[in-house]
Amino acid sequence: MSIADPAHAFSQITESFVKAPKRMLIDGRFVDATSGQTFSVYNPATGEVISQVASADADDVDLAVRAARRAFESGPWSTMTPSERGKLIWRIGDLIEQHNDELAELETIDNGKPFAVAQVADVPLAADMFRYMAGWATKIEGNTIPISVPYAPGAQFQAFTLREPVGVVGQIIPWNFPLLMAAWKLAPALACGNTVVLKVAEQTPLSALRLAELIVEAGLPDGVVNILTGFGETAGAPIAAHDGVDKVAFTGSTEVGKLIVQAAAGNLKKVTLELGGKSPNIIRRDADLNKAIPGAAEAIFFNQGQVCSAGSRLYVDEAIYDDVVAGVAEESNRIKVGHGIHPETQMGPLVSDEQFNRVCSYLQAGFEAGAVAASGGDKLDHPGYFVKPTVLTDVSHDMKVVQEEIFGPVVTAMPFKDDEQLVGMANDTHYGLAAGVWTRDVAEAHRLARAIRAGTVWVNCYSIFDAALPFGGYKQSGWGREMGHAVLENYLETKSVCVAM
Ligand code: NAP
Ligand code: MG
Repeated sequence: MSIADPAHAFSQITESFVKAPKRMLIDGRFVDATSGQTFSVYNPATGEVISQVASADADDVDLAVRAARRAFESGPWSTMTPSERGKLIWRIGDLIEQHNDELAELETIDNGKPFAVAQVADVPLAADMFRYMAGWATKIEGNTIPISVPYAPGAQFQAFTLREPVGVVGQIIPWNFPLLMAAWKLAPALACGNTVVLKVAEQTPLSALRLAELIVEAGLPDGVVNILTGFGETAGAPIAAHDGVDKVAFTGSTEVGKLIVQAAAGNLKKVTLELGGKSPNIIRRDADLNKAIPGAAEAIFFNQGQVCSAGSRLYVDEAIYDDVVAGVAEESNRIKVGHGIHPETQMGPLVSDEQFNRVCSYLQAGFEAGAVAASGGDKLDHPGYFVKPTVLTDVSHDMKVVQEEIFGPVVTAMPFKDDEQLVGMANDTHYGLAAGVWTRDVAEAHRLARAIRAGTVWVNCYSIFDAALPFGGYKQSGWGREMGHAVLENYLETKSVCVAM
């Protein structure tokens, strides 16, 4: 493990985009905040300020919501055919693909993640999301429903449902996959015909601002997509509370998710939430350890562990526990930690000073409670927000490090005796986002997939995401699903029409 030297610089395109004044997209124009306020953006690999962006507040939110309302009710978007809408959404996907490397560099400079990962995962997945959803624009259909109406004997009716957009949608996203989270939110909302006010995370505004330019280039009518940069309290909270917003979709912490629900109560706007997780990853004694051991490392260390569905609780059959822990620790020691732009880097820095301190304080809490590091266990002695990939053993279920989402490269490992004990431990969490099962026993794989209370169960794989596959949480991991046709439910109303004949 070493800090790779940032010998490979960012491209000129990225350097000049980052340095240019950063404005928000409201009503088809790039504007400063009404207050004139800006805030700093940091490169987490160095801790240096790289950019200044507009800091939106309630006045800017109000302007954006009004623009979105006009676009929803009277602009060209409101009368556009589904096919035309689909073409525009598809074009956004094409533009993302054309600017793949540039967007991947922006993710690296802003979030810290390895360029090589953003290039093959974040950006292509974002393009694919727009294309998948572009196809749905022409396939949103109601039903014809034969009704009986017992109190109207002999009467005949033609009854059917219309699926209509919810209206103006507020969307608030986190910093772990900045471009991809924007795509997960925008694409289905647009496919269903809504208009959007999106607030990106304060830590990572850059790729969404470039996406805003691409959305304008694609030809979306003014006001259909508005993209705001700003802080949660000053720009996010006013979106969640605004009476002109019909629905709010949020991804982030469970704690803020609860605040969103409260803020939404004012006008009872619809709410969907994609929140945290503390996902169990299970290795049975019949698993193919050549796959399960690297798979368990990848499940937690991908994206520096800043993944809501990360396999952060590793449960291993006691018969193979020592070998598996040693194997995952060895995998973690091999990971090349460094600046994301360096081609050999496999793990970058954490996103921010705040996240770095949060993860370090979890490690400290773990050690104070008796946990032992089989690998890693501390930060790197280097500027920037680097934490070593860490495997913790000697943990028990009441420990903070086992119960709370750390959102960093830290996995806790525990042995289990049998399936009954295992299922109890796996479900002993107020989260329910995802789980992993590694086994060669097909029947057992299916039994565990059913027994685990989580929105996604991966068997002999982990972190497999696709635009067609629904993703979301049981319990306090959220409300509703992202992706697949399931997400369309988040963005549509159902209207019943009943015609007497
Ligand atoms: P967070 O505070 O929940 O932030 C998520 C988004 O919500 C950001 O855009 C944030 O704006 C905004 N926000 C914050 N307070 C708000 C409020 N009162 N009303 C409306 N919007 C608000 O998450 P975080 O502070 O960045 O990270 C904290 C922890 O959350 C992490 O350690 C991790 O456990 C969890 N997390 C989960 C996910 C996930 O994918 N489920 C993603 C990120 C973080 P600002 O950026 O300005 O704060
Ligand atoms: Mg925050």
